[in-house]
Amino acid sequence: MLNGRVAVITGGSRGIGAAIAHRLASLGMGVAILYAGNHDAAQDVCARCNAEFGTVARAYACDVSDFSAVKCTVAAIKQDFGGVHLLVNNAGVTRDGLAAMMKEEDFDRVLDINLKGAFNMIRHVTPLFLRAKEGCIINISSVSGLMGNAGQCNYAASKAGLIGLTKSVAKEYAAKGIRCNAIAPGFIKTDMTESHADNPLLSMIPLGHMGDAEDVADAVVYLATAKYVTGEVLRVDGGIAM
Ligand code: NAP
Repeated sequence: MLNGRVAVITGGSRGIGAAIAHRLASLGMGVAILYAGNHDAAQDVCARCNAEFGTVARAYACDVSDFSAVKCTVAAIKQDFGGVHLLVNNAGVTRDGLAAMMKEEDFDRVLDINLKGAFNMIRHVTPLFLRAKEGCIINISSVSGLMGNAGQCNYAASKAGLIGLTKSVAKEYAAKGIRCNAIAPGFIKTDMTESHADNPLLSMIPLGHMGDAEDVADAVVYLATAKYVTGEVLRVDGGIAM
């Protein structure tokens, strides 16, 4: 079902996005990854997809918060790959702080990348899906968007917003054969959570440990192939948000 198709993964140079790129490449998908500035890491992901799995993989430097840059990048991907079948909106950042002291620019930047970035991608990829009469979108939200999290009002708002975006897009395009779902990871071992080793919330994970990026990649494969599932939010969180 995925073999020979093309996936676009934002934030594919590191962490969860890199694991998703590798997993989809291992299943025979062509892979286009977008990244912010980490050129070497992005090239390494593509080289591994190519060497280990023999798939075409290309990296595009593109700030997903920039509407025009996303438009150009999607056009380049269409030119390079011929089409897109799966979009994974994974790029995300944190700029934590208490609401009473948060800088306006920190609130705006997190919303611009995490939420508007996903909109920008959907806005420019969906026309390709509509023409093909099929397509699948997976937005990487967070348990912070489900539960809220002290010190993360900007991040939690962006991730809750992604859930509203997911369900709206799912309703708009279901009749056109396009599905849209979200994944809400809990604590996953990546650069983003490097400084969370002593976070008291870790002791509240029912399964007792942090997840791996591969656990999220498993969920991406499920949603990419679950042809009767749309508008869903799948937690991959060791049970912390139940
Ligand atoms: P990460 O290791 O910090 O990687 C972030 C990725 O996003 C990198 O590839 C980075 O590119 C890219 N990126 C950042 N800003 C961008 C921009 N403006 N335009 C394009 N790409 C951009 O993060 P992660 O832990 O893998 O998280 C991936 C996603 O999962 C995020 O949306 C995050 O919110 C979500 N999530 C993570 C956890 C967790 O515990 N790790 C939990 C819940 C949800 P460069 O390499 O070029 O900087």
